[in-house]
Amino acid sequence: MSLILDGKSTSKKIESQLTERVKKLKSIREQPPILATILVGSDPASATYVRMKGEACKRIGMDSLPIFLDASTTTEQLRAEINRLNEHPDIHGILLQHPVPSHIDERACFDAIDPRKDVDGVGCLGFGRMSMGLDAYGSATPQGIMHLLSAYDLRLSGLHAVVVGRSPILGKPMAMMLLEADCTVTICHSRTQNLSDMVATADLVVGAVGKPRFIQETWIKNGAIVVDAGYHPGGIGDIELSETLKERVRAFTPVPGGVGPMTIATLMLQTVIAAERVLLNH
Ligand code: NAP
Repeated sequence: MSLILDGKSTSKKIESQLTERVKKLKSIREQPPILATILVGSDPASATYVRMKGEACKRIGMDSLPIFLDASTTTEQLRAEINRLNEHPDIHGILLQHPVPSHIDERACFDAIDPRKDVDGVGCLGFGRMSMGLDAYGSATPQGIMHLLSAYDLRLSGLHAVVVGRSPILGKPMAMMLLEADCTVTICHSRTQNLSDMVATADLVVGAVGKPRFIQETWIKNGAIVVDAGYHPGGIGDIELSETLKERVRAFTPVPGGVGPMTIATLMLQTVIAAERVLLNH
């Protein structure tokens, strides 16, 4: 019997612990943690993600400050908005929803976020610190995956992890987190040769490709741990998660209900930590 890495129930447990922490914070300082969310443009999927993050804030008793900017916003205007939030004493976390319109320098804007408020873990400084094993807010999706693996006490040390995808907010930080957890890590990307052979050597495979059911079930070895970060319309991921695959692997994340809820729970957790640091001098 393989293990279902249930992100939905795990995120609920995290949320209920966060609800208590927020309650305590509010009773001591009469001030809730506040997450500012910035959406540039009107991409419907991004708008949905921002709304879901605002709803999660509400569920745990936190406030959110949604900021909607026109699609024509320039890099300089967006940086100015981020700077305003950096300096705002009541804002504890800042989320800039990815992707921003292509004329904006997204990296410059991510890096404009004060590292103390970069609760989505998108800045270069945080990435570097995390990679060095220092304290930093991890990129929310891979950090959520690490929380999920740890919730099921899966021993990662010594495993060969194959991460398919190398994006700055998912594949690359995922690889560094698994390295920090003492995995031997292979990172694959669009120029990788013999991808199926690479995946076949994985004790743990992470699908972070952005192409529906791209990683085929026949590539994956028996007993592997299968983590699917992909999400596409119709509730399918980047991995061909057939019933036979589910039976012959050691553990797998369902889609939906695996990685997605953990991303949001991790964003909430990191915002609460950021608020505790300011409000309780932790
Ligand atoms: P992305 O920026 O498009 O990156 C995709 C990566 O896949 C790139 O590194 C690319 O390689 C690689 N790739 C593309 N074609 C490939 C191929 N034929 N063989 C091997 N590698 C290939 O995507 P992303 O933002 O990382 O997102 C990846 C997936 O995760 C998407 O399905 C997205 O919806 C999902 N996601 C989910 C959450 C969540 O909260 N659940 C959050 C973020 C993303 P190159 O670098 O060589 O181009």
